[in-house]
Amino acid sequence: MHVMILGGGVVGVTSAYYLARAGHRVTVLERQPGAGLETSFANAGQVSPGYSAPWAAPGIPVKAMKWLMMRHRPLVLWPRLEPRLYGWLARMLANCTEEAYRRNKGRMVRLAEYSRDMLRDLRAETGIAYDHREKGTLQLFRTAKQLDHVGDDTRVLDAYGVPYEVLDPAGCIAAEPALSRVAGTVVGGLRLPGDETGDAHLFTTALAALCEGLGVTFRYGTGIAGLEREGDRIAAVVLADGTRLEADAYVAALGSFTPALLRPLGIALPVYPVKGYSLTLPVTDPEAAPVSTVMDETYKVGITRLGDRIRVGGTAELAGFSSVLRQPRRETLERSISDLFPAGGDLGRATFWTGLRPMTPDGTPIVGGTRIGNLYTNTGHGTLGWTMACGSGRLLADLVSGRTPEIAGDDLTVERYAA
Ligand SMILES: Cc1cc2nc3c(=O)[nH]c(=O)nc-3n(C[C@H](O)[C@H](O)[C@H](O)COP(=O)(O)OP(=O)(O)OC[C@H]3O[C@@H](n4cnc5c(N)ncnc54)[C@H](O)[C@@H]3O)c2cc1C
Repeated sequence: MHVMILGGGVVGVTSAYYLARAGHRVTVLERQPGAGLETSFANAGQVSPGYSAPWAAPGIPVKAMKWLMMRHRPLVLWPRLEPRLYGWLARMLANCTEEAYRRNKGRMVRLAEYSRDMLRDLRAETGIAYDHREKGTLQLFRTAKQLDHVGDDTRVLDAYGVPYEVLDPAGCIAAEPALSRVAGTVVGGLRLPGDETGDAHLFTTALAALCEGLGVTFRYGTGIAGLEREGDRIAAVVLADGTRLEADAYVAALGSFTPALLRPLGIALPVYPVKGYSLTLPVTDPEAAPVSTVMDETYKVGITRLGDRIRVGGTAELAGFSSVLRQPRRETLERSISDLFPAGGDLGRATFWTGLRPMTPDGTPIVGGTRIGNLYTNTGHGTLGWTMACGSGRLLADLVSGRTPEIAGDDLTVERYAA
């Protein structure tokens, strides 16, 4: 079968890999000059099944009001006349019940844990290198109040069988020795030893090269304008220059831009672009830099060691498709790393980046078939697209191939919103 993947981010490329491995002829269409150059380019680098949880959770509406008021706020909402945003927010609020949280979290953990296993297999099979580390992640508490709430998190981890360690300051410093330089800042931590880290862009480009070796065709610099429907199937992709390209099956993996492609077909994907920012700086003193990811609970910022670089990522800004780099967001990231790893890297040589997380209101991605027979989606991974990419790609490849997937996927398709 000839499968056309629309979008060459980490999700599109992992889909291409597993489809090629399943024996299909695969073409990837991507508007950028290479793979993984949009949201998959400079994310926070966590492969974190342990933190796989929807943002929509009981108590979040109250916390969100507080976050909006902070000087270094993790959440920013630009007042906009955008009905789509308010519809999406309303659906997110509706998911803040205990029952919805349990259901959504269960789906996310299932996919994220499977994804971590798929990533490990892929690494063992291919030897792919992407500045990865298998040293867990540490959520760092700077106040007693933050530590007091650790029970809320560990109860959820217990329920899903995720291994963890609650650490005192000495335990945090044993896990991340550079924190000894700011020992007074550390009140405690929650370590998830099963989590991993790595550079999603390095991974995506390396995997794209492996895909080419498997016969996958990448057409970069190719803008997609629409899909041509004939009855209950897609007949062709129409490119920005009017060219028609035909295949047997189509996978929409355009990240935040997927809804616009499917809307004319009557398929409504509730995916909103949630903007985030990152800084990447060279390590100047390895002893003073993190060894893995430290999640700074105070600012909701992730600080990750990627080889000889440090990546600092965070902020959720609801501002449509804007790609403006905003100085106050940079200052929040700078504040977090300056507090925790003041001598680890050179902020003067940092590069500042922004990307749009394709977020669903229930936090769960939209993976699988649609009511159009040969059209599939693999999108909506929000804050966890790197974490969930391999599992989503493998699940999708099994579904397209007519094989029984290794994990349940019926509740991950767009049909769950119709229900
Ligand atoms: C600041 C930040 C930190 C993050 N940290 C983490 C983390 O630590 N761990 C984690 O798991 N996730 C993280 N994420 C989320 C993760 O980066 C995303 O979920 C993931 O990159 C989404 O991948 P994707 O392939 O779906 O989208 P993208 O990478 O955006 O890929 C979609 C592709 O489609 C292409 N495209 C779009 N429209 C068209 C068109 N019309 N024609 C042709 N091509 C088109 C784009 O060019 C793009 O390459 C973070 C995100 C941000 C912003």
